[in-house]
Amino acid sequence: MSDCIFCKIASNEIPSTVVYEDDLVIAFDDLNPQAPVHTLVIPKAHHENIIDGVPAETLAAMTHAVAEVARIKGLDEGFRVISNKGEAAGQTVMHFHLHVLGGKPLGEGLI
Ligand code: 5GP
Ligand code: ZN
Repeated sequence: MSDCIFCKIASNEIPSTVVYEDDLVIAFDDLNPQAPVHTLVIPKAHHENIIDGVPAETLAAMTHAVAEVARIKGLDEGFRVISNKGEAAGQTVMHFHLHVLGGKPLGEGLI
């Protein structure tokens, strides 16, 4: 996807603050953080959203990356993982990503 901003981050065409990276996924800090820790985990391959045919191996790598982000960022007290699917849910970048949020009490609500 030549004009996808997250594809460009995955290929280092656009700089980002990388937290974790392996062959399948990359995790980087959100440009507009909503919590003291707000890191995005994305597949390097372009998939539009969580139900866009993401291979099981990639989903496993993303789960592993979430654990690495939590370890590296010291989120021992807990964290929240969110993925918006579709404009109605607030998805603005149409490349599948997990938001990892933490570093402060997040409360009991989901939104
Ligand atoms: P969405 O609203 O699609 O679930 O989340 C997209 C997220 O990507 C937003 O939190 C936004 O701040 C972040 N974002 C958008 N463009 C960039 C960028 O160029 N660099 C980084 N690091 N984050 C971005
Ligand atoms: Zn993309």
